[in-house]
Amino acid sequence: MSICPQRRTSKTRKRQRRSHFKIETPGMMVCPNCGEMKLAHIVCSACGYYDGKLVKEIKVKEKKLTPEEKAKAEREAEEAKRVAKKAEKEAKKASKKVEDLKNN
Ligand SMILES: [Zn+2]
Repeated sequence: MSICPQRRTSKTRKRQRRSHFKIETPGMMVCPNCGEMKLAHIVCSACGYYDGKLVKEIKVKEKKLTPEEKAKAEREAEEAKRVAKKAEKEAKKASKKVEDLKNN
């Protein structure tokens, strides 16, 4: 026969014992470099700084674009190019006008 408790553990005893079984909040602090919440005594996972020094390079993940977002970005880039070209043309025109005025 194996050993057996002589007395049943009462509800109160059991609950008193378990009153210490709880999750503790980890030591968190605000990163002095970037302002994100980070674990104390651990390198900041957002900026890679610890004790005011860059300790670890954090790679910025490139955001994956959906086809619609990609198309929109392309359209916007094209529009920006067109605007830039137009502005350049107008500037050339203006400078030409100034030269013509100077010559006459
Ligand atoms: Zn940080």
